[in-house]
Amino acid sequence: MTALQISSVLIVDDSLVQRSHALAICRELGIEKLHEAGNGREALALLTAVSPKPGLVIVDLEMPTMDGPEFLVKLQELGFDIPVIVASSREQALIDTVREMGGVLGLHVLAAVQKPLQVDVLRQALQNAQSRETRRSSQRTELNIDAAALSDALDRGEIFVHYQPKADIRTGIVRGVEALARWKHPTLGMVPPDQFIPLAERSQLIHRLTIDVMNQSMLQNSAWRARGLHLPVAINLSPVLLERSDLALEIASLQQCHGLTPDQIVIEITESSLVTRVGTALSVLAQLRLRGFGLSIDDYGTGFSSMQQLARIPFTELKIDRSFVRGAPERESLQVILRSAIEMANRLGLVTVAEGVESLQEWRMLQEFGCTLGQGWLIAKPMAGDDLIGWMKQYRVQVGQLRA
Ligand code: C2E
Ligand code: CA
Ligand code: CA
Repeated sequence: MTALQISSVLIVDDSLVQRSHALAICRELGIEKLHEAGNGREALALLTAVSPKPGLVIVDLEMPTMDGPEFLVKLQELGFDIPVIVASSREQALIDTVREMGGVLGLHVLAAVQKPLQVDVLRQALQNAQSRETRRSSQRTELNIDAAALSDALDRGEIFVHYQPKADIRTGIVRGVEALARWKHPTLGMVPPDQFIPLAERSQLIHRLTIDVMNQSMLQNSAWRARGLHLPVAINLSPVLLERSDLALEIASLQQCHGLTPDQIVIEITESSLVTRVGTALSVLAQLRLRGFGLSIDDYGTGFSSMQQLARIPFTELKIDRSFVRGAPERESLQVILRSAIEMANRLGLVTVAEGVESLQEWRMLQEFGCTLGQGWLIAKPMAGDDLIGWMKQYRVQVGQLRA
């Protein structure tokens, strides 16, 4: 088997033996161009000098002159966008911490493993790097969008909503859905929300977009209700909108127009440092809660001052970011975070939702930790509102295996 399209690798390790071993494994996978460095500083010098840049860096943690963690920080500071594998002979918990650090820095850490490096581990990591590259190049054309295009899209009704079920962790029963905005561009195809939501936030279009999403979601909720399905809808609210002092009133009028009760709506808000008018934001959140809407902290664990926010704002739900869920059964450091987040939320009387549950193993672990709801591909990918009832029918068949 070949090493896919990665043709050059940089190995950073002070041990000659370990370096030779890693080189041999790379050769086994058919990688032709191999660079070596004995510490972080040498590696940076090499990266600056060579062109094209290596497609992967394999880095040790403990090295003289510049160690692995410092090297990773420098890699980010200097703007090198190269996937990394951390390989060390230290204990897995420490290696995991460095991986976490790399992730927080925005680096792409493909794997964090104990030495000696195994050929299968490297092969898998290279495959991951490859699929990331394919994804990125397929997205590249879509970057060609601006505020005018998004505004036209809103006028033409190109923004629509998909719904992803949230299921009870003990029984698998669907308790609600999250509304996720989609943009079907006439020539570019599907533009992912990670691209157009930030654009909307920068260009004052986020208010229009959110109202559009809310209207569609509330209509959908009524349509399901007419068919006997009571599914609260969670709607994402950009923190920048919390600076509009009349927002709670506006959402409440929409909810009344659609003949819904506020408990049918959950508002998901990411922790954010974006909000400048904190007083207004707190007042809007308090009003929403007083009116009976659910309030959820989204992407919990990725933002700042998590505890402070929890204490100040009357949240009803905590959504644990998927970066803490994915791979948790194999990583103790993630389990510690998950368990303590769930325990804390339980004590505060909050519903806990685990995002990005992809495997039955992750599901079982969340069951054991006492999480309330799970959302992720294991249950279903986001889907059109009209498809949900059909999906529910076939889901009833598979739900048995999810029961505790
Ligand atoms: P989010 O609020 O964290 O939404 C969950 C994201 O995780 C969705 O991505 C969903 O498709 C994805 N996801 C769900 N299950 C899994 C899983 O098992 N594995 C993996 N890898 N991913 C999973 P999506 O739809 O691309 O949305 C991305 C983000 O865009 C959302 O993250 C949310 O922050 C934002 N967004 C989407 N719609 C809206 C909106 O109407 N308003 C605002 N303000 N933001 C929105
Ligand atoms: Ca969300
Ligand atoms: Ca989230």
